[in-house]
Amino acid sequence: MKIIQKLKLVLLCSCLAVPAWGQDVAIVIHGGAGTILKKNMTPEREAAYVAALQEAVKTGYTLLKSGAKGEEAVVAAIQVMETSPLFNAGIGAVYTFEGHHELDASIMHGGSLNAGAVAGVKTIRSPIAAALAVMEQSPHVMLSGKGAELFAESIGMKPVKNSLFNTERRYKSLLKAKERILNAHIPYGGQQGNERFGTVGAVVMDKEGNLVAGTSTGGMTAKRYGRIGDSPVIGAGTYADNASCAVSATGHGEYFIRYHVAADICSRMKYRNDTLAEAANTVINDVLVKAEGDGGIIAVDAKGNIAAVFNTAGMYRAQIDTQGEMKVGIYQEWVNE
Ligand code: ASP
Repeated sequence: MKIIQKLKLVLLCSCLAVPAWGQDVAIVIHGGAGTILKKNMTPEREAAYVAALQEAVKTGYTLLKSGAKGEEAVVAAIQVMETSPLFNAGIGAVYTFEGHHELDASIMHGGSLNAGAVAGVKTIRSPIAAALAVMEQSPHVMLSGKGAELFAESIGMKPVKNSLFNTERRYKSLLKAKERILNAHIPYGGQQGNERFGTVGAVVMDKEGNLVAGTSTGGMTAKRYGRIGDSPVIGAGTYADNASCAVSATGHGEYFIRYHVAADICSRMKYRNDTLAEAANTVINDVLVKAEGDGGIIAVDAKGNIAAVFNTAGMYRAQIDTQGEMKVGIYQEWVNE
């Protein structure tokens, strides 16, 4: 075959490969926000975070490009981080006051406004997969504790030992946090410390233009038995609506619940016509700062605009935009800028 003919064939094939409904895709992920300072980081540790974030964002992006549904990409990206001990989700989750792990996760689809969540689960290997199952295979939005675990087992998710999530680093953080709490001599009290970073989340726009958001976490170090944070609360830690945006949050959960952070960002777009950047900046850098709630969000809107906004020193994050450009960040600036 002549070269020109071959080229024509290649061009024809690549055009055919793009579905009629195909459009650009976008993904943003986070691995937690907090007092993440370069001076406390070794080059090896920084490189490990960058590599894990890149792996997670590329996993989700590859699926999106292949035409997978947004929820599949969100779950796959989050599962990379639930498996990495670097993050406070799945393996590497923080410890409760009593020395266990109680995991929370949620997912929401912006097209159907369907949502699923699990809260306070101890034996589910991938809480984000269980949240998706609640959304797709149950009539409920949120299942908690034993009920969520029994549901997961009933659909074939094998229970795991809670100790599977143990890591030495998080155990040391627990000991530090407990010392502070016990010294405060207030029942259930003491200031929340900085030992929690690493909640994970992903937001995407898929090829059908659907926006999907998901979040998974171990919560806050030394949290009390039964404490549930914002991550599994739809509207607080996770929200998605094709009419506005998809948001996943990380930070001091009690504030994110009180200020229904994820939904507030979407509502500002929907009812005030704020841009995504305006809505996210106002909620994180004004509303939350005034309330002294620390943390950040990632978000994507229906045009594929992306936001990664935080009022803390840093937020582990990565994105691949509609142009296919990838960025990774830990501190204020993006790493590759
Ligand atoms: N938002 C999570 C919680 O409060 C913790 C975090 O994002 O770091 O459970």
